[in-house]
Amino acid sequence: TIIVFGSINIDLVATVPRLPIAGETLLGNDFFLSPGGKGANQAVASARLGISTQMVGRVGADNFGAELVKNLQISGVQTNNIFIDKTVSSGVAVISVDVKGENQIIVIPGANKRVNHEDIERLSHLLPTAKALLLQFEIPMSAVVAAAKAARNAQVKVILDPAPAQNDVPDELYRLVDIITPNEVEAGQLVGFPVDGEESAAKAAAVLLQKGVKNAIVKLGAKGVFCATPEERFFIPAFAVQAVDTVAAGDAFNGGLAAALSQGHSLRDCVIWGAAAGALAATKLGAQPSLPDRVTFDAFLGE
Ligand code: ADP
Repeated sequence: TIIVFGSINIDLVATVPRLPIAGETLLGNDFFLSPGGKGANQAVASARLGISTQMVGRVGADNFGAELVKNLQISGVQTNNIFIDKTVSSGVAVISVDVKGENQIIVIPGANKRVNHEDIERLSHLLPTAKALLLQFEIPMSAVVAAAKAARNAQVKVILDPAPAQNDVPDELYRLVDIITPNEVEAGQLVGFPVDGEESAAKAAAVLLQKGVKNAIVKLGAKGVFCATPEERFFIPAFAVQAVDTVAAGDAFNGGLAAALSQGHSLRDCVIWGAAAGALAATKLGAQPSLPDRVTFDAFLGE
C-alpha cells in the first residue's frame, strides 16, 4: 500500500474575458468545479495505476468535502482515513483564468490547515503494511515532520514533494526523507540559488544530499529529470509528447514514482515510471482528469 498524507482541495474555476480590478464586478464566461490538492492528486495518480492507495487528510463537513471524498473513491483511493472536520470548510482554491491563460488564485486551506496529531495516529495504524508515504507542503509543517518520523520508525520509505515552494524547511525533515522531488522553482528555494537545467540541478541535488536526504530527484519539466543517489548520478530525458497543460504533471510523477517503488523497481525505473506518468498528464487538460490509468500507462511504456 501507498499512503498519501496531505491536502484535499476543490478548485472553483471561473473563466473571464480579463481579470477584474479591485471593486469591480465583472461578467465571466464559464464556471466549473475540479478536484485538486497536491495530496489528493498524488493519491489518484497512484490508485489509477492499480496500486492500493490510502489517503489520510481532512475535508470539511460541507458538500465539497463529500464530493471530494466520493471523487477519490471513484478513482480507487481508499478514503476511510479522511476525517470530516465539522469546525472548518473544505480546502478551496478560487481561481480566475482569463483568455490569455493568466490567472488569479486564492487558496483557503480550510480543513487542510487543521491536520494534526490525531491524523498522525490514523496514519500510524496504516504504516505496518505500507511501502511508501507521500508528503507535500499543503498541510502544517509540524504534521509533515511528525508523519515523516512515524514512517521512518516503521521503516516505510518517505517521498517528499517540497511543494508549494518553501524556504524554511526544518533541518530534521531532510534527514527523514528517502526521496525528495522538487521541481526547478522548489529546488531553487531549498538551496538558495537558481535551478534551471541539468547543471544547476546537479549542484542542487548535491546540496540536498548534504542536508541528509537519501536520494534527490529534480524535476525539470519538458527537459527531464536529474537524480542523485549515494552511489550514482544520472539524467533521464523527458518523454517526447504533445503537451497541452502541465497542471498536475509533478503530482503524476510522484504517484508514478511511488507506484513503481511499491512494486520493488530500481530507483532508475521508478523515475522512468514517474516521467511517463508526468508526460501523459501533460497531454491532457486539468489536474485529476489528466492522470493516466494503467492501460494507457502500459501502452505508453510499451509493456
Ligand atoms: P511540476 O508540475 O511539479 O512543476 P514538472 O513540470 O517538472 O513538475 O513536471 C514533472 C515531470 O513530468 C517532469 O519531470 C517530466 O518528467 C514530466 N513532464 C512535465 N512536462 C512535460 C512535457 N512537456 N513533456 C514531457 N514530460 C513532461
